[in-house]
Amino acid sequence: LGQPRPPHLEKPLVPGVRSIIAVASGKGGVGKSTTSVNLAMGLAAVGQRVGLLDADIYGPSLPRMTGIARRPQSRDGKKLEPMESYGVKVMSMGFLVDEDAPMIWRGPMVQSAIQQMLSDVEWGELDTLVVDLPPGTGDAQLTMAQRVPLTGAVIVSTPQDIALLDARKAINMFRKVDVPILGIVENMSYFCCPSCGHRAEIFAHGGARACAEKYGVDFLAEIPLDIAIRETSDGGRPIVVSDPDSPQAQAYRQLAMTV
Ligand code: ADP
Repeated sequence: LGQPRPPHLEKPLVPGVRSIIAVASGKGGVGKSTTSVNLAMGLAAVGQRVGLLDADIYGPSLPRMTGIARRPQSRDGKKLEPMESYGVKVMSMGFLVDEDAPMIWRGPMVQSAIQQMLSDVEWGELDTLVVDLPPGTGDAQLTMAQRVPLTGAVIVSTPQDIALLDARKAINMFRKVDVPILGIVENMSYFCCPSCGHRAEIFAHGGARACAEKYGVDFLAEIPLDIAIRETSDGGRPIVVSDPDSPQAQAYRQLAMTV
């Protein structure tokens, strides 16, 4: 407050929303949505007013992960009311279209859909809006990073070289448009056998930390490859809220307190 705003925040903010955090990944399937939903619910668990926007228009997975099957309504015929899950306000294109329907939109339509989900949704007063970006570093992501007043971006990657190559592209994309990188999360970082406790590094380990060091950004968290994380996400009750005392949930809450 009272400080001059950094240039990337000169764009008008979504009214009432103090901070917008994008969760990004260089490619799909690395756990970006899982991280977004657990981060959002982790922030709510530490007392923040939180929104979660599913900007992954082509593959919206947040309706399933948040356990919401209803459709949002409008009270005034102008703005949509977000849905709610575990105290987090949620909006996703997946609420508005049939789950099996393919999204055949071109880039500009995707862009305007994301803009509308920001400006035409009654988000109210929020401390943080977590935005689950589409995977990759294409046009839609770049325009989004330029047009939406992002406070910062969290990059999710698995530890493998190939995924990290894409994560580096994401870092460079945000740097190009002056969006601060809040840090990197290594997802599927290791696996502990639930029967014998043996630890296996299925997708290698530590690559994201090394990448963070190389690029001079923070390393935020190591999240294990874990059956409970997958099952709770698929079941619409993310681990942060369904098993808050588990070490996995603690890792997400720690992440929430770091960003
Ligand atoms: P993305 O958003 O990057 O495409 P998702 O978050 O949808 O990836 O995750 C892809 C799949 O991997 C989902 O089925 C999800 O439940 C699973 N998954 C993600 N993170 C983990 C994890 N740490 N442990 C186990 N399964 C995970």
